[in-house]
Amino acid sequence: MPVADRTVGSPRVTARREFGEWFTDHMVLLTWTPETGWENRPRVLPFGDLRFSPAMAGLHYGQVVFEGLKTHRRRGGGLGTFRPDAHARRFQRSARRLAMPEMPEELFLAAVDAFVGRDGEALPADDGRLSLYLRPVLFASEPSLALRPARAYTFLLMGFVTGGFFSDHPDPVSVLISREYARAAPGGTGQAKCAGNYAGAFLAQRAATEAGCQQVVWLDPVERQWVEEMGGMNLFFVRGTGPGAAVVTPPLTGTLLPGVTRDSLKTLAARRGYLVTEERISVGQWREECEAGVITETFACGTAAVVTPVGQVRDGEDDWLIGGGKKGPVTMELREALTDVQQGLAPDTWEWVR
Ligand code: PMP
Repeated sequence: MPVADRTVGSPRVTARREFGEWFTDHMVLLTWTPETGWENRPRVLPFGDLRFSPAMAGLHYGQVVFEGLKTHRRRGGGLGTFRPDAHARRFQRSARRLAMPEMPEELFLAAVDAFVGRDGEALPADDGRLSLYLRPVLFASEPSLALRPARAYTFLLMGFVTGGFFSDHPDPVSVLISREYARAAPGGTGQAKCAGNYAGAFLAQRAATEAGCQQVVWLDPVERQWVEEMGGMNLFFVRGTGPGAAVVTPPLTGTLLPGVTRDSLKTLAARRGYLVTEERISVGQWREECEAGVITETFACGTAAVVTPVGQVRDGEDDWLIGGGKKGPVTMELREALTDVQQGLAPDTWEWVR
């Protein structure tokens, strides 16, 4: 997925690269040990390679959690980061699930501020479609192969400038329902944003690509019929049309990631008068309701994907279109509502932008 040309950094790079392949000039670093706890002030360092022991625990046992959030240019000038407090709290929950130390919310916010303060100007002032994607990551950095939670951790925050994950004018994407693989298990780590969840998903994503689809849709791991989420995105279904339409998203079962965008869109849709509910939707129901014209739209949402329409579903030999394969009005209205908030244009949600 092409992104904008690099605007800062040395050497200056003008080639177009894939999402997440080049970074701004700095990164933030913090460490934790049981004796000292968290360092109390984020250190800003030049972005660069790190040294680590071959026995670094995180490398072997996967104690690695991360976040993804974005800073935008506000329309009237200045920079705003979207809901960093919500990301800080999810980061804490992810760490807790992996028996890792939780980073205080204030320290997470201080790391974000330190990074944006130093490299925020990498975000061009004249292109509102671009944003600064921030990637905090926490990993076990103790050099020990003991099979227990590590006793030393490192936090890093890096970032890069990006456009929309799919595109700025999103064309509907096609999705493959994964029947072969499950992303998460009851009691597992599905609701944590941990590295292993993503490693386990790549093969299914590859199968989707090989089937000619752009994304994979995950089903619940037990009954294998309830639609849960997409690769890196949550899902919404629209029933009906016009002001009386209902906006439905699968409930947080423990096996899908509680998206910050999902949570935000529930609020934004309700404020626009849509009936917002959480409801399990089976694959069969998804298909039947699309064919009957009851489900008129489906969209995916996430920090990177923003709001992206889903136009076509493939399930084995079956194939169906949603809303004739076109992007729907509710999807596009909510996409605009979200990007307005992110650009500081919506006074009723100013508290979401820091
Ligand atoms: N599900 C998964 C598996 C994800 O990786 C993401 C991206 N973090 C999402 C959903 C959407 O979450 P958010 O809106 O917080 O980016």
